[in-house]
Amino acid sequence: MKNLAILLTVIFIIMAGIYFFLFAPEKYHQPDLYDEIMQRGTIKVGINIDSKPFGFVDEKGEIQGYDADLARYIAHYLVKSPNAVKFVPVTPANRMLKASTGEVDIVIATMTITPQRQEILDFSIPYDSAGQALLVKTGSRITSINDLAGQNVGVIFGTTAEKNMQNLVPSANILGFKTYHDAYEALKSGAINAITSDDTILSGFALEDKSVTLLPKRYSREPYGIGFKQGQCSVKLKQNIDFAITDLRQKNVINRLRKKWGLG
Ligand code: GLU
Repeated sequence: MKNLAILLTVIFIIMAGIYFFLFAPEKYHQPDLYDEIMQRGTIKVGINIDSKPFGFVDEKGEIQGYDADLARYIAHYLVKSPNAVKFVPVTPANRMLKASTGEVDIVIATMTITPQRQEILDFSIPYDSAGQALLVKTGSRITSINDLAGQNVGVIFGTTAEKNMQNLVPSANILGFKTYHDAYEALKSGAINAITSDDTILSGFALEDKSVTLLPKRYSREPYGIGFKQGQCSVKLKQNIDFAITDLRQKNVINRLRKKWGLG
């Protein structure tokens, strides 16, 4: 009798396991991301289109920049074709959601790897890095972050600088913008006294327009990673992307990209 009870319990556990495996909600057995990309033959890449020199739209309407080039290299490693990229525009505020819901396979968008973000997405090894800086009008009396007390400071919604500013200068009047371009227009019009974000992006404005200046101090370290859905489904994808980044670095391609886009 006791043996029969044990046998029935074991059968029940096995049946429950099989049932769970077959009918459990999708999140418990998501299809492997790498296999999906390989079968599809294209990779959906979330990219900024407002962040020169990383991601922007050229005169022909094509998406260009450091991140766009990197995406084409990654596609070459994965799908063996640099043209296998399908770009999907993202913003710092919506890119995490787009990657975690599968609207994009990966995000390459000057995205800093942070512990908070790692709770939601998985990341590649870093492919580059930046530092938080200030862009001001040339000749401005603002020379460092401490001068921002009581001043209007522009941040881009969803960025690390938006979070950092609240701690760095709690008395600053922080104004959020959807795009870098909107923040730049606000700086030019005098609605804000400074923009704070990554030096790599802000320096583009200072290079093209002498009426704005990038101040020399940096207030953070921002390692850039490629982000994708978290969990078992992206283990193979991460291995392949990390391999690609390591190889691109060894072959000096990353350095060439930095030079090509005016970063080093
Ligand atoms: N790297 C920063 C971040 O991930 C700012 C750059 C950006 O995302 O546009 O928040």
